[in-house]
Amino acid sequence: MATESFGFQAEISQLLDLIINTFYSNKEIFLREIISNASDALDKIRYASLTDPTALDSEKELYIRIIPDKENKLLIIRDTGVGMTKADMVNNLGTIAKSGTKGFMEALTSGADISMIGQFGVGFYSAYLVAERVQVVSKHNDDEQYIWESAAGGTFTITPDTVNPPLGRGSEIRLYLKEDQLEYLEEKKIKKALRLEYLEEKKIKEQETSNEELNKTKPIWTRNLRRLP
Ligand code: ADP
Ligand code: MG
Repeated sequence: MATESFGFQAEISQLLDLIINTFYSNKEIFLREIISNASDALDKIRYASLTDPTALDSEKELYIRIIPDKENKLLIIRDTGVGMTKADMVNNLGTIAKSGTKGFMEALTSGADISMIGQFGVGFYSAYLVAERVQVVSKHNDDEQYIWESAAGGTFTITPDTVNPPLGRGSEIRLYLKEDQLEYLEEKKIKKALRLEYLEEKKIKEQETSNEELNKTKPIWTRNLRRLP
């Protein structure tokens, strides 16, 4: 298969090492960061659809779902946002230097809290607080579906997706949890993490929505977003 390997930009690699090897107790912030990215992605497709209504044809429903898959020790965060092209994945998830990376590492050494990661523009990497391996499956309207994958260690891969069901549009963040973080597969723990102030203003609505495509696992939290006029 046409898997391509890439090296993380040097400072991003350092940040990943720091996230993985430093002891932080408030790991649950990862969920807010991943959901915040999903929410941004939904904003982007909604905005694009204002000038091009056909942008939504690939998937009309706008939502974020959190789906625990206990069998595979996997926590999935699915959104039907704008998605990422292959180039987006290469650039935004590892190779383009971000001004905030160094700043965040410095802030951490001088006592800043890990929860501030989002303010430095590198929130995605907080996934490695709880995951030993992360996959991002993504489909953007302008490209095919790809799989980004990394277990940190300086490199990531990108592979054309010939194995997963088609997403239509959007992204699936798949967090293969560390053995000592499996509690994030529990509804109670996820709800607790979601009740943090970031999400409190959004009305959290529980739904018994089934999603056949995803191993028949049931999303335990769904946020349906307001429909376009
Ligand atoms: P920030 O959100 O501050 O830009 P992050 O490190 O959280 O920084 O995310 C990096 C980038 O990865 C985002 O800017 C976006 O381009 C891309 N990205 C992350 N998650 C998603 C997603 N679910 N859908 C689309 N793009 C995403
Ligand atoms: Mg973010």
